[in-house]
Order: sequence, then C-alpha cells, then structure tokens
Amino acid sequence: MKVFKFGGTSVGTPERIKSVSKLVSCGEPKLVVLSAMSGTTNSLVEISDYFYKKNDAAASDKIGELEKKYFKVIDELYTTKEYKDKALDFVKKIFSHLRSFAGKEFTQVQEKDILAQGEIISTHLFTYLNHELNIDTVLLPALDFMKVDDYGEPVMSAIEVDLNKMLAVYQGKKLFVTQGFICRNPKGLIDNLKRGGSDYSATLIGAAINSEEVQIWTDIDGVHNNDPRVVNKTFPIAQMSFDEAAELAYFGAKILHPATVLPAKEKNIPVLLKNTMDPKAAGTTISNEVTGTGIKAIAAKDNIAVINIKSSRMLMAYGFLRRVFEVFEKYRTPIDMITTSEVALSITIDNHKFLKEIIGELMEFGTVSLSENQTIVCIVGNMNVEHKGYAVEILKALENISVSMISYGGSPYNITLVVDTENKNKALNLLNDNLFKF
Ligand code: ASP
Ligand code: MG
Repeated sequence: MKVFKFGGTSVGTPERIKSVSKLVSCGEPKLVVLSAMSGTTNSLVEISDYFYKKNDAAASDKIGELEKKYFKVIDELYTTKEYKDKALDFVKKIFSHLRSFAGKEFTQVQEKDILAQGEIISTHLFTYLNHELNIDTVLLPALDFMKVDDYGEPVMSAIEVDLNKMLAVYQGKKLFVTQGFICRNPKGLIDNLKRGGSDYSATLIGAAINSEEVQIWTDIDGVHNNDPRVVNKTFPIAQMSFDEAAELAYFGAKILHPATVLPAKEKNIPVLLKNTMDPKAAGTTISNEVTGTGIKAIAAKDNIAVINIKSSRMLMAYGFLRRVFEVFEKYRTPIDMITTSEVALSITIDNHKFLKEIIGELMEFGTVSLSENQTIVCIVGNMNVEHKGYAVEILKALENISVSMISYGGSPYNITLVVDTENKNKALNLLNDNLFKF
C-alpha cells in the first residue's frame, strides 16, 4: 500500500478536492492523508486567540465566517441532496462544538481540540464525496492510532500496532483516508504534530505500515535546482538522497523538514514530491539511494548576521570554543555556520532576538565585529572528497563576488558560503550558469 498526502492547497477548493478524489480512486491500494483546507488552520488559530483573550464575540464572528465558507464548499462539492445534507449535518456539529468553548476556561487543551477540526472536516467531506461517487473508501480516525509521548514525539511502536490492527479489519479494501497533523497525547487528549505536521503524519504512517512509497502532493513540481524567484532557468530535481534533502531543508527550499523524512529514511521508504496541478510531472524522489555525483541544487537564506570574534587568547587554547558557544546556548540562539582560524572565529545566526546581548558577552573574549544583511548560499550535491574540483568550480563561478565565509567538509553533501545580500541574486545566477549544463 502506498501513502498519498495532500496539503491544504491540494484540497483548498471543491474543484481541487474532486481532482484528488479522481487521482486516488483507481490503481493500487492507498492510504490518503489529508491536511485541512488551506486557510482553515489559520482561522482556527485566530478563533483560539479570541477565546484566550475572552473575546467571545470576535470568536463567534470568525466561527460564523468560516462556517459560511464550508456551507459554500458543500454546496459545490456534492450533486445529490442526500450527500449535501449529510455533509451539512456533520459540519454543523463541528461548528456548534467550536461555539461551545465560549464563556469557559480556555487553555492549550481546548486550543488543540479546536485546531484538530480542520483535518476532521476535510477528511469527512472527502470521504462523503467518494461515497457519493461510489468509490469504496474507509475513513480511519487518526485520533485512534496516532500517538505522541509527553514531549510531543511520535510513539512509533503504538502507532504501528494500532494502525495495523485497524487496517486488518478492512481486508480487501483499497482506499483509506485519514487526518494528517492530529494525534493523541499520553493523557488521551487531542494533540498535534505542530504546524505543517501532516507531512510528518504521512511518513509516520508510511513507516508504520511498511509502505512501498510515500507521496507528498503539493502545488509545486518537486524540489528545484535553484530559487525560481531569482533565477530564470531552474528545473525540478528528479532524485536526491535524504542527506542532500536535509542540507537543503534549512533554506526553506519548499522541501520536507529533516525530522519529517526520518521515519521514511529509517525504513528505507522513498518519498516522492508530486504536483497536484500537474500529476504527470515526475516530481522529486527522495530516497536512501545516492544517485550520481556532482552538484544538484543551490539554495540561499537571507537575513543572516555574521559575528566575528578575534582573540589572541584563542591561540593554542582549549575550551575557548566551548565558552563562546555557551553564550549562544544561554540565549537559545542556534548557530548555523562556523569558520575558524587560529586566532579568529566567524559564526552565523539567523535569529537576531538576542544579538545585542550575545555581542555584549562575546566582547569579553576579544574584538567582536558584526555584519548584517548577509546571505548564506548553500550548494548541495554528492561531492565525496575523492571527486575533486567542486570547490574550484564554485569559487571560479563567483570570482567577481566577495565571499566572506566558506564551509566545506562537514558533510560531503554541501559547500556553504556567505555573501553580502546585495550580491545574492548575482551569485545565484552565476552559480546556475556555471554549475549546470542546460
Ligand atoms: N493543517 C495544519 C497546518 O496548517 C497541518 C498541515 O497542513 O500540515 O499547519
Ligand atoms: Mg504543509
């Protein structure tokens, strides 16, 4: 069985829901994981915020607004009165549940219940549609098998046992639907896998049922080799390894979070990124297979601050780096990239919240300078050291751009540079022109 996950925009309108139904209704057995319709979870967050602030009137307005949206969806989604009524009944129950939080104590427990309703609605609407179209479909409530521990981490063993038990009841069935994002915690209360968590649901489910493949359907045709907003000639990458994908993930290159792909990586299940708007397009396959060598993708991240610390005390000293890193730890600020010389150290951060405090404390170690408006450029691929020449090619492409940091060797999958943000577009284009053959 394959797992197919559709994000919010892929089920964002009645039309899109209908195309998803068409897409999954034939062929091999599938377990379909759905997000809430796009915009819904944000609206539910807003509603919860009003409840937190005891602003029941505003919450009620927002609930009414969202309910109206769903009435319209239902009207367009079904053709028969029977299914319009069924869906209306269901959705009205959910909205009266949302209204029931008014005037009561409101904590995270209630908020998580509210946030779960988007996926509960989308999966029910989808299942009703399939039933109206005579497509045999079983809805598996994620709250009955998706479990997290006290730290919000998925409990794989429990998920595996409970989900497989549920599936065993439906021998011979070929199409299952469940909610992404939502789960239960050890207290048995509704919880979630954090915003954007339905991709995670999909890979957890894939691992739990030993799926042959997990397909993540969004509205783009996979991972591109470079930023299409900056560079004209980009193309989707057909195949990349989990390690290469993890390097790119930090750059928000519309890709899965490293934690998200972990269950798939561990069970060696390929993850395909597919485009709902263009289902025939190949998309990107992420797997444990490292195919080919060479540079595959370039990504950039702006709004980087580079902190440089110069100190003669660093010369031959031990414990110096630890003391420097402790400052960042104290201010809960992750370091992204470091380069060192014998008497100096450059560090990049993207969280500027405690920049002043951090610099204040670092001045105890030596001379500190700060460059803001910097951009990290990351070149990802399979660049095992015995394949020589990659660094040369990259630096040659950038010969007319000033590069202030270079990091190479931490993994064979990336070379990372820092440039001034004003040179970013030029750098991405030069790298694109020189590193890829079109
Ligand atoms: N609906 C949830 C969100 O918007 C989960 C997801 O779509 O991945 O964050
Ligand atoms: Mg998403």
